[in-house]
Amino acid sequence: MNNVIILHHHEITLKKKNRNFFEKQLHNNLKIVLPKNVEIVPQFGRTLVKFSELDNNNLIIDSLKKVFGIANICVGYEVESNIEKFCEMSFEMLKEKNVLTFKIDTNRVDKSFPIKSMDVNKIVGEFVCRNFSLKAKMQNPDVAIYIEIIDENSYIYSQKIYGANGLPVGVSGKTISLISAGFDSPIASYKIIKRGAKCIFVHFHSRPYTSENSILQVESLIKNLTQYQFESKLYLVPFANLQQNIVSNTNQKLRIILYRRFMVRIAEIIAQKESALALVTGDSLGQVASQTLKNIFVINEVANLPILRPLIGFDKEEIMKIAIEINTYNISKEPFDDCCSYLSPRTPETWANLNEVIEEEKKLDSKNLIDECLKEIKVKTFSYQFFFE
Ligand code: ATP
Ligand code: MG
Repeated sequence: MNNVIILHHHEITLKKKNRNFFEKQLHNNLKIVLPKNVEIVPQFGRTLVKFSELDNNNLIIDSLKKVFGIANICVGYEVESNIEKFCEMSFEMLKEKNVLTFKIDTNRVDKSFPIKSMDVNKIVGEFVCRNFSLKAKMQNPDVAIYIEIIDENSYIYSQKIYGANGLPVGVSGKTISLISAGFDSPIASYKIIKRGAKCIFVHFHSRPYTSENSILQVESLIKNLTQYQFESKLYLVPFANLQQNIVSNTNQKLRIILYRRFMVRIAEIIAQKESALALVTGDSLGQVASQTLKNIFVINEVANLPILRPLIGFDKEEIMKIAIEINTYNISKEPFDDCCSYLSPRTPETWANLNEVIEEEKKLDSKNLIDECLKEIKVKTFSYQFFFE
């Protein structure tokens, strides 16, 4: 009998020819979050994490819960595939549990094992009933014992914890995520990371005209998101000079749209440098003036890369729910002075005309303004915080 954590793969199991690639990435990611003294054993549709003894079991489970690509985290034991062993192990697992009802749930992956799943359930179940005063109950029992018969070894566990699902980070390439200190963009980044892509972050700030709060808040958000993608990079772009030029030279109604168009242009230059294939924003259709369909169209017009907007169909409540779940809520709720509230227009345009916007932009020395922003960029990196150091 050995201690083992069985990780059921999520969507990876549906991949055909590319499955190896997805599994390899998952295993590389697991190596980052797990302590060095565990053994990671790939198997069909699952990964085994073997260890002799762990004192920090809960910490390990907490880190595994943030690894995308895993459907279930099952904490149990490896035993020989043998019906006596299953009974023995069920006995061990139940003897210290203070419960009234149970069920045995067997999955016979190895069809050459001579006893069918239902019969294993029956034999082990009867054994349990003979040894304890417990009642079998199929729906919502106090405890379920799962038996997975894989080959000459089987896995038996009663602790089955939901994983984060999604795809292993790294399989979908790199994106540039435009992140503010607000609620939406960190959740948009989280959604993209969950689909297997890395986010390289870009934040536009108006220092020294605004306080450092937005930057500090963005850094806290990125530290949180780094738990899911293991390392992060943040480009801090000084935006005040460009904004002042827009304010002095163009129609006030179009300011936010012009800010956004320049954000997209600068983010694309960073994307090229980083070989990223898309931009990510936290836009949600109709949420604020800059996110009406027409304004999205006008902002999008400067982009050559796809702009991914994972929250486009989400309402604020749905976004907040995820923010609470992943603990970005408490960070984003702090007040911050954003570059867009600095020099914000009195009456923002809600349905901009593209030609008018292009005409207004002609009043700006765009190339030089962008070059100046690029010259003053600062880059910060963040790495995974190990529980085990
Ligand atoms: P968020 O909560 O993400 O700030 P929001 O509802 O406040 O979103 P906007 O402020 O209009 O909406 O921003 C729309 C999107 O533009 C953001 O989700 C983000 O992707 C990007 N964005 C806004 N401000 C900045 C900034 N200062 N730096 C980088 N990206 C930004
Ligand atoms: Mg915002």
